[in-house]
Amino acid sequence: MKKLEVDQNKCIGCGMCAGMDPDHFEIDDSGLSTVINQDNIENETISQVIEGCPTGAITIEEIENEEKSTDM
Ligand code: SF4
Repeated sequence: MKKLEVDQNKCIGCGMCAGMDPDHFEIDDSGLSTVINQDNIENETISQVIEGCPTGAITIEEIENEEKSTDM
């Protein structure tokens, strides 16, 4: 399965991702973007957000799914 992630060490808090896709991204208390939802992450909007992030902080990573994930 895939996991949408923001690297907060790279994020500069510009707000673009949360503005374009508030269903998946939120600016948290530290002023940086965080992923709030893993549903339906392979769509055109997210592709544009990933390409548009000025620091390349957003990635979709393939993760092993051997254990049942309960933290969705
Ligand atoms: Fe951070 Fe990139 Fe989102 Fe801007 S677009 S808030 S730099 S993750």
